[in-house]
This record gives sequence, structure tokens and C-alpha cells, in this order.
Amino acid sequence: MQAEVNRQVLFSSLMTGEPKPEDFEWVETPIPEPDEGELLLRNLYVSYDPGSRGRLSGRNSYVPAKRVGEVMDAQSVSEVVLSRHPDWRVGEIVAGFHGWQDYAVSNGRRLRRVDPDWGPITTAIGVLGTPGLTAYVGMRKLMPASPGQTVLVSSAAGAVGSAAGQIAAIDGARTVGIAGGREKCAYAQEVYGFDRMIDYKAAGDVSGALADACPEGVDLYFDNVGGPILNAAVANMKRFGRILVCGQIAEYNLEPDRLTGLRDVTALIGKRLTMRGFVVLDHAEFFAEAWQTMSEWIKTGRLTYREHIVEGLENAPRAFCGMFQGENFGRGLVHIADPSTPENI
Ligand code: NAP
Repeated sequence: MQAEVNRQVLFSSLMTGEPKPEDFEWVETPIPEPDEGELLLRNLYVSYDPGSRGRLSGRNSYVPAKRVGEVMDAQSVSEVVLSRHPDWRVGEIVAGFHGWQDYAVSNGRRLRRVDPDWGPITTAIGVLGTPGLTAYVGMRKLMPASPGQTVLVSSAAGAVGSAAGQIAAIDGARTVGIAGGREKCAYAQEVYGFDRMIDYKAAGDVSGALADACPEGVDLYFDNVGGPILNAAVANMKRFGRILVCGQIAEYNLEPDRLTGLRDVTALIGKRLTMRGFVVLDHAEFFAEAWQTMSEWIKTGRLTYREHIVEGLENAPRAFCGMFQGENFGRGLVHIADPSTPENI
């Protein structure tokens, strides 16, 4: 059903430590009016993303700190419901960055049409959106694996990690994943095809479990989490191994003076390791290739994905907070509304 007002979730207090639902505020405002050259979007699905946490402590990172009172960041799949823009027509389904709210006005920049041939519209902000692009850019372009290499992926049952592991396997690597809980580990092994999985919550000694799973060491570590798991990975890297730093979710809720990340920098010297951080948005030149390749892989069953869809905008804050305890099992999305044209579902 179409909302009569614009329901919005605002970021309402600077965060320290774990995010709490009370850090957000629910407001209802009039539906905005697009000017000439703009269009009105109705959000159908919005995402909740670990990386958003970095903006919520009042500190600038590679994106400026978010100000209290702003609509919470999210990627979005939306329907054009009113267009005063020559390039966009009513009924089109588009992907963009329109936050936790029912409606948003866009001038068409940073908006792309969702191709229904590529799969369900949710994939535009999932496996064919930022998470999938991140895995593709990282594993295919920045640090590709060679056949026979051992590739380790953390948060391996998650949106980025599951795709990164599958891409490494497509490229002929042996893949070892780390995830929290037996269910996620079994799924990642059976469905995403990881050769071995380590349940870091049950393992106790993750470094020892890694030594067992990778007796000859790790050639490439795709790091989604940082913290103690990064240290366990460094201890198990091969000489001349490579570490691609994609995310550090284990660190996001810690104050700068409490970070627990990389301890043994000397190991980087002794093992001649390369460590590289990246931000997917810097690599837009690879996106067209990534969409083409990954949509083909999805069609032919070589790449699979899982979405964790929470019902209702009002549940977005709780879902975001739960992600830091691993409550999402796949790409974190919130369903707000259905498209008015059934063929677009
Ligand atoms: P995700 O992996 O689908 O979800 C987050 C998962 O992180 C949770 O489900 C949980 O899984 C795990 N986790 C939470 N706290 C943890 C901790 N303390 N230690 C270990 N694991 C923990 O999220 P995603 O969207 O795919 O993002 C994965 C990472 O990629 C994030 O760090 C994100 O910031 C990063 N990222 C980077 C870029 C870039 O351009 N560099 C772009 C997109 C995303 P378990 O149940 O397995 O613990």
C-alpha cells in the first residue's frame, strides 16, 4: 500500500559502541515535490550496511560524518512515481542511494535502471549492487587468485564474502571461509562451495583451526572483519601472501583508542606480505564488466546469493543493530513496498 506521508528513519544520536535502535528516530513528513528536472521515487527495498556505521560516530572517514537528524543512509530499489525529468518515466524501477524512507526526490544522478532480465529487483542492491561489485572488483581486479592458491574469506556467509569465495573458486582457487555458527558454515560449504569452513564462534583458537584447514598456509586473505580474525589470518599467511582489506566490522563499534586490529606488523616483513585496502566506489570502470559477467554466472548457476529480507521500514534499526551480532544471513535488506506493476516484482 502506498504511504500517504513520507515515513523516515533519522539518525538521531552520535553512536559510541554497539548501535542501538534508540539511536534512530521515526518521523512522518509530507511527501516531497520534485521540481522541474527531478523525479519522485517510492522506495521498495532499502539496505542496511555494515559500512554505514563508520559515519555515525561523528568522525569523518572516506565519506564525511553523518549529521544527527539526517535520514539514515541506505541503498535503495525504487519505483519512479512522478517524473519531471526527460530521461525517466513513471513506472521505471531504479537503484540508488535514497535512505530509510518511503519517498525521495532525485535529479537522476547516481541512479541506474534496474534490468529485470538480470534477476529479482533486490539483486540490484545485492549481488549485482555494492556487495557483489565489491567482491568482483576485489577478487577479479585488485587481487585475483591463481588456480590452486588457497584463498581465505571472512564473513564468508555474508553478502560480500559469499560472492568473493565463489569468484575465487570460479578462478580455480581452493577456498576456506570463516563465519559465525554452524548453520552459516554448513550453508556456505554446501551452497557457496567453500572447500572448508571455520566457525569462529565455536573454534576458540581460530589460528589453530586455520592451520588445520590451510596446512600449507594462505595465499590470499579477503578480509571483511579485521580484529582477532585478521591476526589469526596473518599468523597463517604464506610467504609473499596478499591481504585485501575490504571491511573491518569487528572494529566498527570500537573507539579509535580501543581498536584490536593488526598486532604483528613485523610478520608482514618476515613473510613479505602485501596488504591493500580499497573502496569499491573508486573502481567504477569495472562495473559494466562485473554486471555482465556476474549476471551471466547467476543465470548459469555458477554464482548464487542469499538475501535476508526484513519486513517493514520500522524494523530497519533493529536489523541494522542485529547485524553486528550476525543476525543477518545474507544481504541485509528491508522490504517497504511492492512495485505497482506486477511484472517488476
Ligand atoms: P555481511 O557480511 O552480509 O554482514 C555482516 C556480517 O559480519 C554479520 O552477519 C556477521 O556474520 C559478521 N560479523 C559481525 N560482527 C563480527 C565480528 N565482530 N567478527 C567477525 N564477524 C562479524 O555484510 P556485507 O555487506 O557483506 O559487508 C561485509 C564487509 O564488507 C563489511 O565489513 C563491509 O563494511 C565491507 N564492505 C566494504 C566495501 C568496500 O568498498 N571496501 C563495500 C561494501 C562492503 P557472522 O555471523 O559470520 O559473524
